[in-house]
Amino acid sequence: MTTDEFVARSHILHRSFSERPAKIVAGDGISLVLESGKKVIDASCGPSVSCLGHSQPEITEAITNHLKNDIAYVYSGSPYTNGATEELADILLSEKPGGLSKAIFVNSGSEATDAALKLAVQYWHERGQPQRTHFIARKQSYHGNTIGALCVSGHESRREFYKDFMSSNVTFVDPCYAYRMKGDDESDEEFAQRLGRQFEDEILRIGPDRVAGFVAETVSGTTLGCLPAVPGYFRAIRDICDRYGVLLILDEIICGMGKTGTMHAWEQEGIRGPDIQTIGKALGAGFVPLSGVLLHQKIFDALSAGSGGLAHGHTFQAHPLACAAAVAAQRIIKRDNLIERTAQMGHKLEALLRKEIGPMALVGDIRGRGLFWAVEFVLDKSLKTAFSPKANFCNQVVKHCLDSGLNILGNLGHTGEYQVDHVLVCPPYTVTESELE
Ligand code: PLP
Repeated sequence: MTTDEFVARSHILHRSFSERPAKIVAGDGISLVLESGKKVIDASCGPSVSCLGHSQPEITEAITNHLKNDIAYVYSGSPYTNGATEELADILLSEKPGGLSKAIFVNSGSEATDAALKLAVQYWHERGQPQRTHFIARKQSYHGNTIGALCVSGHESRREFYKDFMSSNVTFVDPCYAYRMKGDDESDEEFAQRLGRQFEDEILRIGPDRVAGFVAETVSGTTLGCLPAVPGYFRAIRDICDRYGVLLILDEIICGMGKTGTMHAWEQEGIRGPDIQTIGKALGAGFVPLSGVLLHQKIFDALSAGSGGLAHGHTFQAHPLACAAAVAAQRIIKRDNLIERTAQMGHKLEALLRKEIGPMALVGDIRGRGLFWAVEFVLDKSLKTAFSPKANFCNQVVKHCLDSGLNILGNLGHTGEYQVDHVLVCPPYTVTESELE
């Protein structure tokens, strides 16, 4: 069947109208199995989701058992709860990491971002400051594809069609993209301070009593390619947020839940933690869609002191089956010490990338943490000259890799001022040394 015939015949509106997607019929550990029987190594776990690989009998069993013995669906808007949801929240929050003490679970990362923004706004209402509705986010960022999440995403090509919907109550400051933005004579500390001053100036320009929160990925994922901040950046941001009462909202949808070698990526930033945090992707390891929002006790205190309860909810919020699958995933991660393993295997992955890929002519930068790495390509290494967006260079790399049996995620569209052609290398926490090689 030709691509045109396939596109005409399929009732699914696929993302590409010009490429025929390969049909996947099974998963086998780190690999996807195609209809033809060919196996492809999934080096990015899809968009950094399948952190336990594509086949995990214990999770299959947990899902089956849950359906046999428990309830598949309960409406969380009714006065009910269920065991799986409560257990998942206990697993995540019983030790109150950074003072985070309450969770809500939704289905996608984008919904989690929307919920985080709405919770921040409700928090300020309950605190008697309803004028605090302005958010500051970062250029070339991505927090999701719903209208609300896009409003705080600096991803230009994803916003383009929807400009009229984008809120004027969101403004953007520079990301912490040291590879291109840090001055030659500037230290990490100076760069962090410069970005901090820019953030503070923006708060003062808007008016501190109007700013609800600052939204940032702790380690930027798909737009800037597994980009950790320079040391001191988040300490500066946290201090400024505290000075003006601005809520720090950290998006760990792609970088969190163990991927960087600690459960939360912010644990490596020397800060006490965020006020609101979003999680997703690796939370349920991709078996059933699930994401969540974690709230600091102070947010809950303010919300509960208000009159009306939670002003947010979805039909499929806290879906019991999704939570049961995530409980099974999180139990395996804990039992098998997979976060420690991620940190250890991460050193091996970094060494391999630097040795095998680093010297290549078109490789400009290799960066990441744990098992969350990216390779950024440039036309000229010494000048850091980027490819033109039209060249779609990274797509060529992705296609070439696929022909060689390696599925790898490339940057998704033009995100802003800097063209950042990169691929993500974020294998499952269970990856072996030979698979890394
Ligand atoms: N936030 C970040 C940092 C992401 O990387 C993504 C997705 O890639 C999202 C939010 C949106 O998540 P979802 O695609 O599940 O809606």
